[in-house]
Amino acid sequence: LPGPEWVAVRVRLAGICGSDLHLVHQDVSPSASVYASFPFVVGHENVGAVAAAGPAAGVAPGQRVVVEPLLPCLPRGFDAPCPACRRGDYNLCERFAEGRLPAGFGQGFCRDVGGAWGEVMVAHRSQLVPVPDALPDEHAVFAEPLACAVHAVLRHVPDAAGTVLVIGAGAMGLATVAALRALRPAARIVAVARYPHQAALAAHLGAHQVLTSRGRALYDQVAGLVGARVLQPLLGRPLLTGGADVTLECAGTGRALDDALRLTRAGGAVVCVGIAFAPRGVDWTPLYLREVRVVGTSYYAAERVGARTVRAIELAVELLAAGRVDLRPLVTHRFPLRHVASALATALDKRGRRAVKVLLEPAG
Ligand SMILES: [Zn+2]
Ligand SMILES: [Zn+2]
Repeated sequence: LPGPEWVAVRVRLAGICGSDLHLVHQDVSPSASVYASFPFVVGHENVGAVAAAGPAAGVAPGQRVVVEPLLPCLPRGFDAPCPACRRGDYNLCERFAEGRLPAGFGQGFCRDVGGAWGEVMVAHRSQLVPVPDALPDEHAVFAEPLACAVHAVLRHVPDAAGTVLVIGAGAMGLATVAALRALRPAARIVAVARYPHQAALAAHLGAHQVLTSRGRALYDQVAGLVGARVLQPLLGRPLLTGGADVTLECAGTGRALDDALRLTRAGGAVVCVGIAFAPRGVDWTPLYLREVRVVGTSYYAAERVGARTVRAIELAVELLAAGRVDLRPLVTHRFPLRHVASALATALDKRGRRAVKVLLEPAG
């Protein structure tokens, strides 16, 4: 262990994130390598149990935990936090490449701490979120991806949001629908799904409308729902006048991002939750024509919920434990860790094998 405040966590269950699939297929921007150190163990969606604890870790072996896979100033040993960490925005820490640990956002990108697709991770006490006994592993393993959705929603979807469009109904889009339903009850949620099994899950998780159309039909349907008009340019795809107040782009494709920009009202926001590091075919004209704002999201941090400040990942565990969010229906496959190659091939096959969330079991 790196110090007295550190623990070893034996992984009980791990998830495959869309970003992991990009990573193993080398569909990742080289720019991201500044926050990684090689070789590292992939995987950040996790639930585990403390296997060994340093004397100042404040936790006993056996405790089930979710590890928040971020290594900002505090675990890196800086007594004085950087400005971002001081604000509670530790996902934006300025020292992910400095301090007593090698570069890396956290578990899954950092050489010395392991990752969720291994058997053991090393974590600082500040990263541990206890899992209530009543919350089973296959429920708790969603805390990490749900935290991403919680952060995106709390930071970028106003309380009084009217219509919120969620494009993409893979695991991230579905977690976003669930987070919206739990945290922004006044919003009307319109989800855009590609496949019927995704559409069924989006409806189950609380989307008010689920659309599976593409092209002009999609524009007509969204326009009908929000009372917008479809304008047809001389060439290319349509543009709505009026449109969604906020669009969360969760598919991570150029096509989805382009649709998001065109389906959002003037002055509205497009939140990039999916990862499309060099999207093709995106026309940015809605930014100039209608002041559509585009914002990014990365992990999660300390969030304000009413008068309360709480870490998104703690709030995610609370939502799961209280039964306000249940993402277990997303689990389509479980593989023993030694079959990780099959697990990855399955996770990519969203159409044929209807994969949504694929889990890895180290002990399997
Ligand atoms: Zn992820
Ligand atoms: Zn920092």
